[in-house]
Amino acid sequence: MNTDHSVIFQERKDQIHRKGEEPFEISCNKESLAGAVSQRACVFCGSRVVLYPIADALHLVHGPIGCAAYTWDIRGALSSGPELHRLSFSTDLQEKDVIFGGEEKLTRALVELIDRHSPNAAFVYSTCIVGIIGDDLESVCKRVSGEKGIPVIPVQSEGFKGNKREGYHAACNAMFRLIGTGDTTGISPLSVNILGDFNLAGEIWIIQEYYRRMGIETVANVTGDGRVDDLRRAHGAALNVVQCSGATMDLAKMMQEAFGIPFQRVSYFGVEDMAESLYAVARFFGDRDPGIMARTQALVKEELSILYPQLQKYRKALSGKKAAIYVGGAFKAFSLVKAFRLLGMQVVLVGSQTGTEEDYQELHEITDDGTIIVDDSNPLELSSFLKEKDVDVFVGGVKERPIAYKLGVGFCDHNHERKEPLEGFIGMLNFAKEIHASVVSPVWRFVPRKTAGRRG
Ligand code: SF4
Repeated sequence: MNTDHSVIFQERKDQIHRKGEEPFEISCNKESLAGAVSQRACVFCGSRVVLYPIADALHLVHGPIGCAAYTWDIRGALSSGPELHRLSFSTDLQEKDVIFGGEEKLTRALVELIDRHSPNAAFVYSTCIVGIIGDDLESVCKRVSGEKGIPVIPVQSEGFKGNKREGYHAACNAMFRLIGTGDTTGISPLSVNILGDFNLAGEIWIIQEYYRRMGIETVANVTGDGRVDDLRRAHGAALNVVQCSGATMDLAKMMQEAFGIPFQRVSYFGVEDMAESLYAVARFFGDRDPGIMARTQALVKEELSILYPQLQKYRKALSGKKAAIYVGGAFKAFSLVKAFRLLGMQVVLVGSQTGTEEDYQELHEITDDGTIIVDDSNPLELSSFLKEKDVDVFVGGVKERPIAYKLGVGFCDHNHERKEPLEGFIGMLNFAKEIHASVVSPVWRFVPRKTAGRRG
């Protein structure tokens, strides 16, 4: 083992596990260690990620302009219609507002923006400084909502009050205010809400089409290509299908409690999980529609007959290569481990920002001996592990990309910056293509890989 142990803080040692070297135990689901420069984002960022794809809503960040850096440009959720979500609005709080309060400025901004853009709802995000000065978002939103006749919803996402996971919760609370306020007439008994998909590169359209072929109506997208009116009637769906372990699970639980709608966890990444997700939904509706399973099997068969022959050349080229994974939610990591296995590759490092003990237990079960499993990591640790394991490709998000490139390692963005759909059966093929292109790229001739023994 050639990890540079000086980069691992004493207080973080129990958040790192090496499979096969010790009994499984990992500490997780806790606040980041101060000074460790966690890869996690703040509460505000968590809520913004979840809500901003609602394309016909106004999204106003109440805070200093810096917080508004989380825009559509770095998280390109696509819309089939309105594109108000692509505009980033901020109240741009200054020293004077911090001293005298920002409520008046917020009111003026809201009124002006609603008049100018006629949104179907407005979300107002609270940031760190707003939590500190104590602006009353609730009362401002209520007043403007009464005046303008649309829902104006505060998102209590002060950045400092926890981690990204709390932001998801704040977003779910905000959306829950809309759900149950619309008319559900005409919704099919075979209907779902798609939760936890943000329509990056048009992915939700692929999934919607699978459900359509199975005979299932999609009531609301939560939140990729999302619409306010769809959310209002989402309580009319028969089932919530929830992708990703963190982002929208709280909403599914709230809807189950308030409206009795069951939920099912799914993953649209990789072949196994994609197929199993469709089968699980077909099983759920089996009593109502005896033909649904046969239709689903035909769908999967057809998609695989197209996919498998095309995958072979990538599998041949990538067989035996080593991969590292560091993602936001651990649920995605499960699918990625399986997807790499399908490509004949070995996962030697896997971690997440927000995994729970059960998540890591599952990762422990599906990974090979020697794999490093890490919770809430940081750039120094990740660099050290990548060098130790001499990986060929790293899968992560925007904050992991420079780590890979600086070490001369291939990279695949599996987060908000992706431009090719990676969900669905077609997504597996795109994933293989992208991994292959990065691993065999001639650019690495000019940027030799740094490993523990070779600093380059
Ligand atoms: S909410 Fe706070 S932590 Fe988040 S971006 Fe703004 S200032 Fe930074």
